[in-house]
Amino acid sequence: MGSIGAKEVPVLLSPEGRRIDGRRLDELRALKITAGALHEADGSAYVEWGANKVMAAVYGPREVHPRHLQQNNKAIVQCRYNMAAFSVDERKRPGLDRRSQEISKVISEAFESVIFAEEYPRTSIDVYIEVLQANAGTRCAGIVAASVALADAGIPMVDLLPAVAVGKVAGEIALDLKKEEDNFGEADLPMALVPQSGRLVLLQMEGHMTAPELARALELGVRGCRSIYETMKQALRERYATGTGAEPQGAA
Ligand code: ADP
Repeated sequence: MGSIGAKEVPVLLSPEGRRIDGRRLDELRALKITAGALHEADGSAYVEWGANKVMAAVYGPREVHPRHLQQNNKAIVQCRYNMAAFSVDERKRPGLDRRSQEISKVISEAFESVIFAEEYPRTSIDVYIEVLQANAGTRCAGIVAASVALADAGIPMVDLLPAVAVGKVAGEIALDLKKEEDNFGEADLPMALVPQSGRLVLLQMEGHMTAPELARALELGVRGCRSIYETMKQALRERYATGTGAEPQGAA
């Protein structure tokens, strides 16, 4: 979660149960996914989710760099999550800070558990996630974008990987936190779900909630992931219906 600083705490939940942007507790922000948004990558996707804007590009399977990371029996999955220096209103130092490194690691591990890596020994599958505009939930938006980009690249996977953050806001469990809710709320719980099996391959928590609240948060999050899953599949269907993704016809 971001820092509170000296800012005044906004009203996060109205007496009518509406959130700061008018959503109900179980509502997602608007989500738009474009598969195949870039020319040069083997696979790509662009995600606008609330005020988040995230691009993902996949390269591979290709030669491993650095070479010593190569594994004889499977591909390695290397995800690099980066927030652009202009992605937040506060000043952010450009480059890979500790937060980005940690997020890159947990996202890599999440994808390692769904990619059939043994089909491509001695190679690397490289996933780049660039956050262009950040408004909380960017690691989840990054996973959604990367997952569609991996499918677009034709990388065999158990399933797509929808992800969402659930949290606690003004004492209530809420789906898909936006920035003020993340900053001033009581808890933030990003998760990624393998829809076919119901397995969670990423689950983190900052803040505090009770065990019953956690159960409610998981229920809301799983439901949210299933809805996001449909949008992801639709983006891929659109990509293959036209074969062009976001690019204008004949742009290649
Ligand atoms: P996530 O984006 O996955 O929710 P965090 O909970 O760490 O990850 O961050 C929440 C939000 O706080 C981000 O989406 C972004 O809007 C903001 N934020 C994160 N890091 C920074 C930073 N270094 N400078 C300014 N804002 C940041």
